[in-house]
Amino acid sequence: MTQQHCAFCDGPIGSESRETVEHFRPKSQFPELAYAWDNLFPCCDLCQNNKLEKFDEALLKPDGQDYIFQQYFIVNYHTGEIEPSPQADQAEQQRAKITLEIYGLNLANRKTMRLREWRFYTNEANPIIDDYHYRYFLE
Ligand SMILES: [Zn+2]
Repeated sequence: MTQQHCAFCDGPIGSESRETVEHFRPKSQFPELAYAWDNLFPCCDLCQNNKLEKFDEALLKPDGQDYIFQQYFIVNYHTGEIEPSPQADQAEQQRAKITLEIYGLNLANRKTMRLREWRFYTNEANPIIDDYHYRYFLE
């Protein structure tokens, strides 16, 4: 379903990272959801290692019915950062901020990787978006 991309950062899984399964609602707090299909997401090591057992009800769920990346976030092509959208309302900005923090989405190496992917993507004559990582950053 994610085409070998992490459900949270859209980074590579299976090549530069192990393919792990993330419990969106952690097993330690929600043992009844340990095997619930809609609580399980393909995830990279970086996201997994940052999130650990953290959870907040405000955390954005990547398959949420109302979730649209651009509604909550903007990207910065100078720094490689993802930022809460100034167009979003206060509650949406807070949800974006919490999601960025819990998954560590603006760690230095992540910004570097997004900018690198952006360079590869923009230097290709006919790029196929699904061949790249961090697709939200490229579109
Ligand atoms: Zn990830």
